[in-house]
Amino acid sequence: MSDFPILKQRGQHEVFCGLTAILWLHRKMQDAFFLVVGSRTCAHLLQSAAGVMIFAEPRFGTIILEESDLAGMADMHTELDREIERLLSRRTDIKRLFLVGSCPSEVIKLDLDVAAKRLAKKFNNSIQIANFSGSGIETTFTQGEDACLETVIRDLPADDSQQLIVLGTMPDAVEDQMKSLLSDLGIGPVKVIPTADQRQKFGVGRGTHFACVQPFLGATHDAMIQRGAKHISAPFPFGANGTTDWLWAIADTYGVSRDHFDQVIAAPLARAKKAVAHSKSVLQGKSVFFFPDSQLELPLARFLAQECGMTLTEVGTPYLHSALLRHELDAIGPIASISEGQDVDLQLDRHATVNPDLTVCGLGLANPLEGQGKSTKWSIELVFSPVHFYEQAGDLAALFARPLIRKGLLTKEAAE
Ligand code: SF4
Repeated sequence: MSDFPILKQRGQHEVFCGLTAILWLHRKMQDAFFLVVGSRTCAHLLQSAAGVMIFAEPRFGTIILEESDLAGMADMHTELDREIERLLSRRTDIKRLFLVGSCPSEVIKLDLDVAAKRLAKKFNNSIQIANFSGSGIETTFTQGEDACLETVIRDLPADDSQQLIVLGTMPDAVEDQMKSLLSDLGIGPVKVIPTADQRQKFGVGRGTHFACVQPFLGATHDAMIQRGAKHISAPFPFGANGTTDWLWAIADTYGVSRDHFDQVIAAPLARAKKAVAHSKSVLQGKSVFFFPDSQLELPLARFLAQECGMTLTEVGTPYLHSALLRHELDAIGPIASISEGQDVDLQLDRHATVNPDLTVCGLGLANPLEGQGKSTKWSIELVFSPVHFYEQAGDLAALFARPLIRKGLLTKEAAE
């Protein structure tokens, strides 16, 4: 996969499960409902992580498997059908229903694929019904989006016409910025998956080029390739350099001249560099260690090293998809240790030896490390915050600078 040694570890790992992705997917796919077939633990995870949603008509819920179901005593499919019929008759605004598998549904081998097909037939295909797994067994939280988009692509009709599809969830304002930049380059219209509305219909086929804005879309990438689409391989659009390289890879594919390209990006690129410079004074020369969590680790490490002058120590990622991360690996491999997977105790030992200035990790590790006086950044925050493309480059750098500024202030206060 690369010329660099990659430490592969399999052991206890500390990550959220793929159900977490529902929290950002439901905001984007506004006519969809995500129905988790799971346990009380799954319901609690969703409710506590999405606290504000209790005030709104929710677009996700959990069918709770009871002990009798787990023991195989109840006819799960009959109960599932009954609950879904009840939901859909009450909620006519639902146009897409995702049945989301969990650890318990996987353990009892409840076939949600069969259930989705049966239910779609029952409703005469008037509602799109699909399924994906958010189970926490051997997965990490961003894989929920990957599994969801893979399902969406599997169900798209065939279309061999020329088109560009961008894959990955972004906040609407960021998506608009991306479309505007591509339009200024003369590229478009651009289609984005996931769509806000199932009426935005299109197909996929041999005339499709696609680019990913999120590095965790490995299965989605593979599904596109299987449908005959061509991947535009590039670094990810984080920071000024990442955004320029990502846009150029697309522009080059579409025959845009470098002169025109440079003209279009000149102003936003200058703004991005200026905004990043604000935090660079804090980050420059500081060391950073990434525990594997969001799968954003490699592109973010590249941004921090190239544009903010940070020193990379270990960059851990839950999975490495070689086709998606080729460019990031080439940038990071020579300057950092890369690890894939996790054996948390061994990794904590390596972390203690390195003793970095900043640690990027999941919530489970952040609190104990903060307790030891370390500066940490929650990796989940980077998935929920607008961080892509030029206009967000300054905010992205600031997210990493903030814990170091806070630590500096606390140290100063303690000394006074
Ligand atoms: S899917 Fe698994 S890991 Fe996630 S909340 Fe449910 S039981 Fe826990």
